[in-house]
Amino acid sequence: MTLRTRLFLTSAVIAVISLGVSAVVASWTLRSQLLDRIEAELALETRLVAEFLTRDRSSLGTLALDRAADALGERVSARVTLIDRDGVVVGDSVEDGQALVAMENHGARPEVEQARESGSGMVMRYSTTVDEPLLYSAVSVSHPSIAFVRLALPLTAVDEQLDVVTQATVLGLLAALAGALIVAWMGSASIGRRVQAIAATAHRYAAGEAPMASPDRSSDELGVLARALDQTARELGRRVDELSDQQTRTRAILRGMVEGVLVIDETGRVQTANESVQHMLGIDGPPVGRRYVELIRHPEVIKVLASALEGEATPQEEVALNTDPPRALLAGARPFTTDTERGVVLVLHDVTDFRRADKVRQDFVANVSHELRTPLTAIKGGVEALLDEATDDESRRFLDIIARNSARMERLVSDLLRLARLEAGQDPLNVESCSVPSLFGALRGELVALADQKTQRIEATVGEGADVVHADPVKLHDAVRNLIENSVHYAPEETAIRVASEEREGLLAITVSDRGPGIPDADLSRVFERFYRVDRARTRDPGGTGLGLAIVKHLVGLHGGTVSAANRPGGGSVFTIEIPRGDVDGELPHREA
Ligand code: ADP
Repeated sequence: MTLRTRLFLTSAVIAVISLGVSAVVASWTLRSQLLDRIEAELALETRLVAEFLTRDRSSLGTLALDRAADALGERVSARVTLIDRDGVVVGDSVEDGQALVAMENHGARPEVEQARESGSGMVMRYSTTVDEPLLYSAVSVSHPSIAFVRLALPLTAVDEQLDVVTQATVLGLLAALAGALIVAWMGSASIGRRVQAIAATAHRYAAGEAPMASPDRSSDELGVLARALDQTARELGRRVDELSDQQTRTRAILRGMVEGVLVIDETGRVQTANESVQHMLGIDGPPVGRRYVELIRHPEVIKVLASALEGEATPQEEVALNTDPPRALLAGARPFTTDTERGVVLVLHDVTDFRRADKVRQDFVANVSHELRTPLTAIKGGVEALLDEATDDESRRFLDIIARNSARMERLVSDLLRLARLEAGQDPLNVESCSVPSLFGALRGELVALADQKTQRIEATVGEGADVVHADPVKLHDAVRNLIENSVHYAPEETAIRVASEEREGLLAITVSDRGPGIPDADLSRVFERFYRVDRARTRDPGGTGLGLAIVKHLVGLHGGTVSAANRPGGGSVFTIEIPRGDVDGELPHREA
């Protein structure tokens, strides 16, 4: 059913109901007013007739009384009945002779009983005598032969009058109804047309047509709705344009990126993948919508994505791809959550060229260091021989300088070679159960002479549960020795250098602390870089090579551990090595470090 028909039917039903109710109320009001008037007139006539009769107070016979009733009945518009005290009808304007005598006793008629009790009575009821509804009015009379005068008016006349009025009212209402229906039809047609126009506009917008100004300029709700629709369509269009601009820009950025970017949703389906990632991982065909496990053939990358999908923010990891030629990628995956979705974004950096260059550098350093060793040994040997034979002080002084510097150079070359071997993975771990007290004891024994030169003490403490560790004893020894040597060099005389071990949630922590100058906060993380020195003027010369802490970092890293530097609150530095303790249960150390 169209809106227009529905609106029209609703208005028509309302019009019919309201006009019908008005007609019923009008005819009911009219009838009751008419009856009230007729009742008042009949009561008045009854009293007039009663008054007229009481003028002649002489006792009359039935015949005379009936004639008087007939005469009065002709003068008034109603039937006149005269009733004596016993209720016997003694005169009637309608019945005469035998019929009058045969009339029932009227003493128990309701109007007569009312008149007997209160002087007057008015009742509307059906008359058995004349067989039609009548309005009866009775009054009591003080007359020797008559006790009550009753006037009866047939209500057919009232009904006829009412019918006429009702007919006129109904005709009027029908005309009003017809008018109302025409107005309702025209009104609903106009509203229907405007709603249809708005619906058609909405359909056009839904089909993607450009918004245009609505022709409906009226200020009512429909006009406001039509204009709001145009405005909404314009606003939506603007936002869609903005979004598509943003999307184009994002696509261009992703396409221009050297890094590979892959976005998956929480079900593991690819949402975005730029050209670089497809090239790096060798993905064929459009990746969007496919599951990453079916798409990516490299288990290392799958592992990184899987752990990020489980919500772990894993650090960047270098993965070696078994491709031809092999590639090295730095993979970082981070989980993300927006208002509507969750997923993971994976970023891949291709570090193959960087690794290749680093390898060339490492090889170069290793080769140069190796090549320098032989001439250095020759120089050292030569100088030592010359020193043995030198007699004058001047020559000895110069030969001493050469000997010191060639020894330093030898240390440098040896550190460089060690670092190169560690970086190249040529110095593998030989893990075994090591005793921490033995390690500390051996180190004290080796370094006590060095410490004594500066009247320093080396104090070692082994914490509870921190006396055994699974590690390469030589490498752990070298790492801790390097830290103690540094402390001895940088801390002032007559101070204590503390070496302590401690168990920290499955890790063994070895700390070396001193009362030296400490390290500026900005340099704390950089001291482990090759040749990094906090303050070149302060650094001892010619002892240090600037490679000690870099070697420590590598040695500890091989164990899967970390080394860090910090400053002590009261001054001095503290270096901490943390390595996993490994499976050390029940086993006693059998090798001394
Ligand atoms: P070096 O051979 O110069 O000691 P390292 O790699 O061992 O080289 O140390 C790097 C730098 O860190 C040092 O030059 C020094 O400035 C600083 N450093 C190392 N240990 C200490 C320490 N215990 N106290 C203060 N500074 C230190």
